[in-house]
Amino acid sequence: MPAKLLDGNLLSRQIRAEIATSAAILGAKGTKPGLAVILVGENPASQIYVRNKVKACAEANIHSELIQLPSDISEEQLLSHIQKLNQNSNIHGILVQLPLPSHIDSHLVLETIAPLKDVDGFHVSNAGALMTGKPIFKPCTPYGCMKILESIDYPIRGARAVMVGASNIVGKPMAMLLLQAGATITICNSKTKDIAAHTKEADILVVATGIPKMISAHMVKPGAVVIDVGINRLPDGKLCGDVDFDEVKYVAGWITPVPGGVGPMTITMLLQNTLEAATNFYH
Ligand code: NDP
Repeated sequence: MPAKLLDGNLLSRQIRAEIATSAAILGAKGTKPGLAVILVGENPASQIYVRNKVKACAEANIHSELIQLPSDISEEQLLSHIQKLNQNSNIHGILVQLPLPSHIDSHLVLETIAPLKDVDGFHVSNAGALMTGKPIFKPCTPYGCMKILESIDYPIRGARAVMVGASNIVGKPMAMLLLQAGATITICNSKTKDIAAHTKEADILVVATGIPKMISAHMVKPGAVVIDVGINRLPDGKLCGDVDFDEVKYVAGWITPVPGGVGPMTITMLLQNTLEAATNFYH
């Protein structure tokens, strides 16, 4: 019996419609939500991501400003752009598209964004607030994964959850959100011995490693919810996740496709965070 599909495009459309309505109401009261997106250099993938974010803003009644900077910009000049945006009352969220050129300290750049405008949720004070259960902004990808779980009303409390991948932007914050929702959580990384022994125990399995199709059917508990964050391009140009979808769909109870699962939810939660930032500003 194939798993039920967790359709991130459909859920995104529903949430984005709600965001567009709330943003229009806030705009009518004089605070149109505003997002600044900074792109340094000409990385083709980053250009596509940034274009998609700007387009999504327009459709959600969110003002956006795209700031395109040359790849040889100095760190000091980039920080100065961010400091100006920190002071700009029309801008409620600031996003710096990663990766940055190697001569720029990404950590310093992210720490320069005012925490109340840090809609990606990467600032160390946001990470700390998340750890203590009171995040100002939840990082967009884990926030989107939680929305997917909420959409099926899955009982997270008491569930066994396994997070494969422990990055600062996906794995660690996702584990925190699951923990706070009452799951018993295991986090695996590249040094974990016998990954399958952990994943087979998971009622909720979230995977974010960047290794194409690393999770096969024998690693999944029958009926589990499988959320695949990975986006990998195969030599034939097709996209695939970190989960072997064609196998695992016969074992899992629910599964996200790639593309069309977590990906669209990430942008949706960026819009949500920008709306939340503007709402906080308005109050
Ligand atoms: P990182 O490379 O920053 O982190 C990868 C993590 O996976 C690390 O913690 C690493 O462990 C762990 N890992 C690597 N190999 C293994 C292994 N064999 N077994 C278990 N764990 C392993 O990646 P990101 O978190 O940034 O991204 C992961 C994937 O998610 C990528 O495909 C990326 O494209 C995608 N992504 C998708 C998004 C979306 O919107 N859908 C958003 C962000 C990312 P260690 O800590 O030991 O190095």
